[in-house]
Amino acid sequence: MQSFNLDQSGSALLTAVDRIAADTIQKHARDNDVEARFPRENIEALRAAGLLGLISAREVGGHGQGLRAAAAVCERIARECPSTAMVMKMHYCGSAVIEAHGDPDLRRAIAAGKHLTTLAFSEFGSRSHFWVPVSTATPAPNDTILLNANKQLITSAGECDLYIWSSKPAAAEGLSSLWWVPSRAPGLTLGDRYQGLGLRANASAPIGAVDVEIPAANRLGADGKGFDLMMGVVLPWFSVQNHAVSTGMMEGVLRRTVAHVTGQGYDYSGAKIAEFPQVRGNVARMRTKIDMSRALLIDAIDAIERGRDDAQLRVLQSKVTGAETSLEVHDLAMRVCGGAAYRKDIAVERFFRDSRAASVMAPVSDALWDFIGKAECGMPLFA
Ligand SMILES: Cc1cc2nc3c(=O)[nH]c(=O)nc-3n(C[C@H](O)[C@H](O)[C@H](O)COP(=O)(O)OP(=O)(O)OC[C@H]3O[C@@H](n4cnc5c(N)ncnc54)[C@H](O)[C@@H]3O)c2cc1C
Repeated sequence: MQSFNLDQSGSALLTAVDRIAADTIQKHARDNDVEARFPRENIEALRAAGLLGLISAREVGGHGQGLRAAAAVCERIARECPSTAMVMKMHYCGSAVIEAHGDPDLRRAIAAGKHLTTLAFSEFGSRSHFWVPVSTATPAPNDTILLNANKQLITSAGECDLYIWSSKPAAAEGLSSLWWVPSRAPGLTLGDRYQGLGLRANASAPIGAVDVEIPAANRLGADGKGFDLMMGVVLPWFSVQNHAVSTGMMEGVLRRTVAHVTGQGYDYSGAKIAEFPQVRGNVARMRTKIDMSRALLIDAIDAIERGRDDAQLRVLQSKVTGAETSLEVHDLAMRVCGGAAYRKDIAVERFFRDSRAASVMAPVSDALWDFIGKAECGMPLFA
């Protein structure tokens, strides 16, 4: 299996994640899914091991790791609990924006693990087209801003400490501005949590904002330049980590599938399920699809780190490759594990349900195929 090739400090951190995944995350995954319960104990274990400050620079007290390590961490967690991996993925996306534009105090707090973050981009008014928010930011007295919004489907809603928040610009031209917003700010309201099909433990919920007052200084980047931040910082982090979560899920479902088909069989003959060549062929397809997807994931990270000419293409391909391959691999797992896959005990159905989300999380797969096609045909992506 192709490895993420982390440096010494990254490898030590990944070893810590491996231990937490095996001891804690794996243990709680089933109940958190059934009860749609936020994986608080998992996040606290990761926080205690310093993982919330993974990508914060060393100068502010973080571990100074990058996208490669974040992808490795999310991939490992997703093998046990994709919901927990999604929470961490969104935290690292938010942290990347704060590292790029946050003030030193905020960066130090993130590095110290004091804040869990998430992206609050998606809105009822612009749905998956997060780059055109319809929510507003209105300049108010004393250098403050009033936010009004109807956000939909926000991971870690009400469970995290701060949101990276999109709105129309306050005064400048442009599609959007970004802000950081404390999750307990007066005027924020939480809608009912979705009883979702999958990723049920990630506390996805709508968030309303009515005249939420924040300091104007909470803006991240220039007014009106949110789009540049979304495309330049958020998209690579989101796309690659989403791919990593899909990869971890696929590894998780393959492990459980192999355990089932090699462990269970037919009493009348003593044969195991894996003795059917068709079953082994489908297991082989799963392994091969995962490895093809993983190879593109590692190449995308490499392209971004080296600033290669094809980095933008790899960013667009990354999420959609992971998401769509994951749908195929999870379909195969359901077929190979038969009626047993419909039960909760071997956990294949949990992974199957969780795997459905990636292709409809923005940018949705259909939009990504269109963007890649436009790029290939030399057409502007957002025209
Ligand atoms: C589990 C989960 C967690 C989430 N967490 C967050 C979060 O933390 N923060 C956040 O901001 N958002 C989050 N979201 C929201 C997510 O990013 C999307 O905005 C949302 O899922 C889009 O759903 P929709 O029904 O609004 O999509 P629509 O915009 O209604 O799209 C529906 C379908 O229309 C088609 N379509 C739409 N646009 C295009 C296009 N440009 N080209 C081609 N086809 C298109 C596609 O087939 C698409 O699947 C989460 C979603 C889920 C499911």
